[in-house]
Amino acid sequence: MKTKLRPVIGLEVHIEQNTKTKMFCGCPAIHYAVPANTHTCPVCLGLPGALPKANKLAVENILKLGLALGCKINLYSKFDRKHYFYPDLPKGYQITQYEAPFCSAGRWEAPDSPSVNITRIHLEEDTGKLIHKTVGGQKLSLVDFNRSGVPLIELVTGPDFETSEQVTAFLKEIRKIVRHLGISTADMDKGSMRLEANVSVSTTKKLPDYKVELKNINSFKFLAKAVDSEIARQTKLIHEGKRIAQETRGFDEAAGGTLSQRTKEEAKDYRYFPEPDLPPIRLSQEYVTGLKTNLPKSPSETIHELASWGVSWQAATIIVKDRARLNYLYDVRSIDNSVDLKSIANLIVNKNVDKKYKDPNDLLASIVKSAGNLSLEAKQMTKFINEVLIENPKAAEDFRLGKTNVVGFLLGKFMQKSAGRGDPKEVSKRFFDRLK
Ligand SMILES: [Zn+2]
Repeated sequence: MKTKLRPVIGLEVHIEQNTKTKMFCGCPAIHYAVPANTHTCPVCLGLPGALPKANKLAVENILKLGLALGCKINLYSKFDRKHYFYPDLPKGYQITQYEAPFCSAGRWEAPDSPSVNITRIHLEEDTGKLIHKTVGGQKLSLVDFNRSGVPLIELVTGPDFETSEQVTAFLKEIRKIVRHLGISTADMDKGSMRLEANVSVSTTKKLPDYKVELKNINSFKFLAKAVDSEIARQTKLIHEGKRIAQETRGFDEAAGGTLSQRTKEEAKDYRYFPEPDLPPIRLSQEYVTGLKTNLPKSPSETIHELASWGVSWQAATIIVKDRARLNYLYDVRSIDNSVDLKSIANLIVNKNVDKKYKDPNDLLASIVKSAGNLSLEAKQMTKFINEVLIENPKAAEDFRLGKTNVVGFLLGKFMQKSAGRGDPKEVSKRFFDRLK
């Protein structure tokens, strides 16, 4: 008899923030396509005696993400040193959070998916970057410290996934939320969002006593492939009665499978201890409540809101991905809340009117001027005219008796229904045409 096997998958997601400056110094945080080692200072180069100072915006950003994912915000939080030796880490330790992260115990729920526990979300500094190249026949490893000290968010989930499809759906949602909050570009090809999965296969109801960490994966597609091939590899080993080693593996696209990189370290190997150069951070409840109140709506909440204003689902889904376009649509509505937002949204998506008319006032003015009156569709106009005529049969009779000024009365009724929309000349003409 075959044992019933169950894949157990947990995720670690690194998200690089898009703050102007780095986590613990004033150097510019941008490092993509920048000449090597130009955004550095004694702090992010780890020179002796340099003192770090925490970036307030980076802290605010991680709290926003925690709140958006329903996490508990820890009012007392601190930074720790995680020790390891690698050439991209000049201090010999990374400043991160171990015992007291900013956010913990969140929960992400979505239809058609298992609910996911967010174990913790903590703040740390990014490392430098190693560049391997051959110069004059000589193999060189170069280090660029521009990325050293860039604010990095690490999000850790519970072992709550069973398939690569569930993993991908969750990660796409996280990317959407992060972009919507405006805290990271989350571009995977530029390394702003990096994925790791812990995969094991359980033969019992309990969690397995090992996990294999899949590291350094830079696309949803590769992660799904890596997870699937890792589940297959472990399942085969279990069927052969073999023990599975706790280790870190990378995904080899050419081989179509995962390859062992190193045995996995445990927490004790890192000799964590509290960062003595940074005081613990104490947040007031009022501050956290204020952040929560001002949190932008989630993408799906926003799509629902736009749909409730008449915007098509399709246009809403496109606009919500672009903060600038979304703000533009909100601006239009705040200038004139009787405007036909469905047409405006379609014009933004199909004709880029937000680029043509930078100021939403100009767009609205152009719409009124072009009296084809986009704010009232022809179909809607016909509907109102029909309703007015049905509801006022006496007016139609009066018209036939020669009292043509009754059209003014019908126009008034029309405007009540359309909340003032519709070109009066056009509407009057149509009443005349219908009555004569
Ligand atoms: Zn610096």
